[in-house]
Amino acid sequence: MARYTGAVCRLCRREGEKLFLKGDRCYTNKCALDRRGYAPGQHGQARRSKPSEYSLQLREKQKLRRIYGILETPLRNYFELAERKRGVTGENLLQLLERRLDNVVYRLGLAASRAEARQMVRHGHFTVNGEKVNIPSFLVKAGDTIAVKESSRKLNRIQEMLQAAGARPIPGWLSFNPEAFSATVLSLPTRDQIETNIKEHLIVEFYSR
Ligand code: SF4
Repeated sequence: MARYTGAVCRLCRREGEKLFLKGDRCYTNKCALDRRGYAPGQHGQARRSKPSEYSLQLREKQKLRRIYGILETPLRNYFELAERKRGVTGENLLQLLERRLDNVVYRLGLAASRAEARQMVRHGHFTVNGEKVNIPSFLVKAGDTIAVKESSRKLNRIQEMLQAAGARPIPGWLSFNPEAFSATVLSLPTRDQIETNIKEHLIVEFYSR
Protein backbone atom coordinates (compact mmCIF):
# COMPACT_ATOMS: atom_id res chain seq x y z
CA MET A 1 0.00 0.00 0.00
CA ALA A 2 1.42 3.38 -1.01
CA ARG A 3 2.24 5.88 1.69
CA TYR A 4 4.40 8.94 2.29
CA THR A 5 7.92 7.91 3.31
CA GLY A 6 9.67 11.29 3.54
CA ALA A 7 10.59 13.28 6.67
CA VAL A 8 7.35 13.73 8.58
CA CYS A 9 8.40 16.81 10.56
CA ARG A 10 8.57 18.67 7.24
CA LEU A 11 4.84 18.09 6.94
CA CYS A 12 4.14 19.85 10.25
CA ARG A 13 6.45 22.68 9.29
CA ARG A 14 4.70 23.01 5.94
CA GLU A 15 1.31 23.25 7.64
CA GLY A 16 2.67 25.51 10.37
CA GLU A 17 1.24 23.44 13.19
CA LYS A 18 1.87 20.29 15.17
CA LEU A 19 0.25 17.29 13.52
CA PHE A 20 1.68 14.82 16.10
CA LEU A 21 3.06 12.40 13.52
CA LYS A 22 6.07 11.16 15.49
CA GLY A 23 4.56 9.96 18.71
CA ASP A 24 6.38 10.72 21.96
CA ARG A 25 8.94 13.02 20.32
CA CYS A 26 6.13 15.48 19.49
CA TYR A 27 5.68 16.17 23.21
CA THR A 28 9.34 16.95 23.86
CA ASN A 29 11.56 19.94 23.09
CA LYS A 30 13.01 17.93 20.18
CA CYS A 31 9.92 18.79 18.13
CA ALA A 32 11.16 20.30 14.86
CA LEU A 33 8.33 22.81 14.76
CA ASP A 34 9.33 24.22 18.14
CA ARG A 35 12.93 24.56 16.98
CA ARG A 36 12.30 25.73 13.41
CA GLY A 37 8.80 27.13 13.25
CA TYR A 38 8.90 28.09 9.60
CA ALA A 39 8.11 26.27 6.36
CA PRO A 40 10.79 23.91 4.98
CA GLY A 41 12.82 24.67 1.88
CA GLN A 42 14.88 27.53 0.53
CA HIS A 43 12.05 30.06 0.74
CA GLY A 44 10.61 28.77 3.99
CA GLN A 45 11.41 31.96 5.90
CA ALA A 46 10.22 34.35 3.19
CA ARG A 47 7.26 36.58 3.99
CA ARG A 48 4.06 35.14 2.58
CA SER A 49 1.21 37.13 1.11
CA LYS A 50 -2.36 36.69 2.36
CA PRO A 51 -3.50 33.18 1.36
CA SER A 52 -6.29 32.85 -1.19
CA GLU A 53 -9.51 31.01 -0.45
CA TYR A 54 -8.29 28.12 -2.61
CA SER A 55 -5.00 27.96 -0.76
CA LEU A 56 -6.78 27.76 2.63
CA GLN A 57 -8.97 24.94 1.37
CA LEU A 58 -6.02 23.08 -0.14
CA ARG A 59 -3.93 23.39 3.02
CA GLU A 60 -6.79 22.10 5.19
CA LYS A 61 -7.22 19.10 2.90
CA GLN A 62 -3.47 18.39 2.97
CA LYS A 63 -3.46 18.69 6.75
CA LEU A 64 -6.22 16.08 7.02
CA ARG A 65 -4.32 13.71 4.69
CA ARG A 66 -1.19 14.11 6.72
CA ILE A 67 -2.84 13.62 10.10
CA TYR A 68 -4.43 10.34 9.02
CA GLY A 69 -1.48 9.34 6.80
CA ILE A 70 -3.44 8.73 3.62
CA LEU A 71 -2.84 9.59 -0.01
CA GLU A 72 -4.97 11.71 -2.32
CA THR A 73 -6.96 8.96 -4.06
CA PRO A 74 -8.13 7.23 -0.87
CA LEU A 75 -9.10 10.59 0.63
CA ARG A 76 -11.16 11.43 -2.45
CA ASN A 77 -12.83 8.02 -2.18
CA TYR A 78 -13.66 8.69 1.46
CA PHE A 79 -15.09 12.06 0.44
CA GLU A 80 -17.31 10.49 -2.22
CA LEU A 81 -18.53 7.94 0.31
CA ALA A 82 -19.18 10.73 2.85
CA GLU A 83 -21.20 12.65 0.25
CA ARG A 84 -23.42 9.65 -0.42
CA LYS A 85 -24.16 9.15 3.28
CA ARG A 86 -26.96 10.97 5.09
CA GLY A 87 -25.96 13.95 7.24
CA VAL A 88 -23.28 16.61 7.01
CA THR A 89 -20.61 15.63 4.48
CA GLY A 90 -17.67 17.08 6.43
CA GLU A 91 -18.66 15.26 9.60
CA ASN A 92 -19.26 12.04 7.67
CA LEU A 93 -15.77 12.35 6.22
CA LEU A 94 -14.14 12.73 9.65
CA GLN A 95 -16.23 9.89 11.00
CA LEU A 96 -15.07 7.55 8.23
CA LEU A 97 -11.43 8.40 8.90
CA GLU A 98 -11.87 7.92 12.65
CA ARG A 99 -13.35 4.48 12.06
CA ARG A 100 -10.18 3.18 10.38
CA LEU A 101 -8.64 0.37 12.42
CA ASP A 102 -5.20 2.05 12.54
CA ASN A 103 -6.81 5.20 13.95
CA VAL A 104 -8.74 3.17 16.55
CA VAL A 105 -5.52 1.47 17.71
CA TYR A 106 -3.91 4.92 18.02
CA ARG A 107 -6.90 6.41 19.85
CA LEU A 108 -6.83 3.50 22.32
CA GLY A 109 -3.24 4.44 23.18
CA LEU A 110 -1.81 1.15 21.86
CA ALA A 111 0.52 3.01 19.49
CA ALA A 112 2.35 6.31 19.88
CA SER A 113 1.37 7.55 16.42
CA ARG A 114 -0.98 6.54 13.60
CA ALA A 115 2.07 5.43 11.59
CA GLU A 116 3.05 3.01 14.34
CA ALA A 117 -0.57 1.86 14.66
CA ARG A 118 -0.69 1.16 10.92
CA GLN A 119 2.46 -0.96 11.14
CA MET A 120 1.12 -2.91 14.12
CA VAL A 121 -2.13 -3.62 12.28
CA ARG A 122 -0.24 -4.71 9.17
CA HIS A 123 1.82 -7.08 11.30
CA GLY A 124 -1.40 -8.78 12.36
CA HIS A 125 -1.40 -7.95 16.09
CA PHE A 126 -5.15 -7.25 16.29
CA THR A 127 -8.44 -9.04 15.89
CA VAL A 128 -11.89 -7.62 15.22
CA ASN A 129 -14.73 -9.73 16.60
CA GLY A 130 -12.26 -12.59 17.04
CA GLU A 131 -10.94 -12.57 13.45
CA LYS A 132 -7.41 -11.40 12.61
CA VAL A 133 -7.53 -8.15 10.61
CA ASN A 134 -4.33 -6.75 9.10
CA ILE A 135 -5.87 -4.02 6.95
CA PRO A 136 -5.25 -0.54 8.43
CA SER A 137 -8.16 0.96 6.48
CA PHE A 138 -10.66 -1.60 7.85
CA LEU A 139 -13.68 0.39 9.11
CA VAL A 140 -14.97 -0.58 12.53
CA LYS A 141 -18.68 -0.30 13.33
CA ALA A 142 -20.73 0.08 16.49
CA GLY A 143 -20.62 -3.08 18.60
CA ASP A 144 -17.28 -4.34 17.20
CA THR A 145 -14.71 -5.72 19.63
CA ILE A 146 -11.07 -4.98 18.88
CA ALA A 147 -8.50 -7.05 20.74
CA VAL A 148 -4.76 -7.63 20.83
CA LYS A 149 -4.14 -11.07 19.37
CA GLU A 150 -3.42 -13.68 22.05
CA SER A 151 0.12 -14.41 20.76
CA SER A 152 0.99 -10.67 20.63
CA ARG A 153 0.02 -9.81 24.20
CA LYS A 154 3.50 -10.42 25.63
CA LEU A 155 5.32 -8.26 23.08
CA ASN A 156 7.43 -5.59 24.76
CA ARG A 157 5.87 -2.76 22.76
CA ILE A 158 2.32 -3.84 23.57
CA GLN A 159 3.22 -4.18 27.26
CA GLU A 160 4.89 -0.76 27.23
CA MET A 161 1.86 0.86 25.63
CA LEU A 162 -0.52 -0.86 28.03
CA GLN A 163 1.46 0.45 30.98
CA ALA A 164 1.19 3.93 29.53
CA ALA A 165 -2.54 3.48 28.81
CA GLY A 166 -4.49 6.39 30.17
CA ALA A 167 -1.79 8.94 29.34
CA ARG A 168 -3.95 10.03 26.42
CA PRO A 169 -7.71 10.29 26.98
CA ILE A 170 -9.75 7.62 25.17
CA PRO A 171 -12.65 9.08 23.17
CA GLY A 172 -16.16 8.48 24.47
CA TRP A 173 -17.19 6.29 21.53
CA LEU A 174 -14.65 3.62 22.56
CA SER A 175 -14.40 1.63 25.75
CA PHE A 176 -11.09 -0.01 26.62
CA ASN A 177 -10.34 -2.81 29.07
CA PRO A 178 -6.52 -3.08 29.32
CA GLU A 179 -6.72 -6.23 31.50
CA ALA A 180 -8.65 -8.03 28.77
CA PHE A 181 -6.50 -6.47 25.98
CA SER A 182 -9.73 -5.50 24.25
CA ALA A 183 -11.93 -2.55 23.39
CA THR A 184 -15.49 -2.10 22.22
CA VAL A 185 -16.89 0.41 19.76
CA LEU A 186 -19.81 1.83 21.74
CA SER A 187 -21.17 3.96 18.89
CA LEU A 188 -19.96 5.71 15.79
CA PRO A 189 -18.04 8.89 16.68
CA THR A 190 -19.92 12.17 16.62
CA ARG A 191 -18.15 15.39 15.63
CA ASP A 192 -17.66 16.53 19.22
CA GLN A 193 -15.98 13.19 20.04
CA ILE A 194 -13.39 13.62 17.28
CA GLU A 195 -10.45 15.53 18.69
CA THR A 196 -9.02 17.47 15.78
CA ASN A 197 -8.69 21.09 14.79
CA ILE A 198 -9.61 20.37 11.16
CA LYS A 199 -12.08 22.77 9.57
CA GLU A 200 -13.89 20.16 7.53
CA HIS A 201 -16.11 22.67 5.70
CA LEU A 202 -12.99 23.92 3.88
CA ILE A 203 -12.29 20.38 2.64
CA VAL A 204 -15.88 20.00 1.44
CA GLU A 205 -15.50 23.31 -0.41
CA PHE A 206 -12.21 22.11 -1.91
CA TYR A 207 -13.70 18.93 -3.35
CA SER A 208 -16.90 20.70 -4.44
CA ARG A 209 -15.09 23.17 -6.68
FE1 SF4 B 1 5.37 17.38 13.99
FE2 SF4 B 1 5.93 15.68 15.93
FE3 SF4 B 1 7.83 16.40 14.19
FE4 SF4 B 1 6.94 18.10 16.04
S1 SF4 B 1 8.06 16.20 16.38
S2 SF4 B 1 7.29 18.56 13.89
S3 SF4 B 1 4.75 17.57 16.12
S4 SF4 B 1 5.96 15.25 13.75
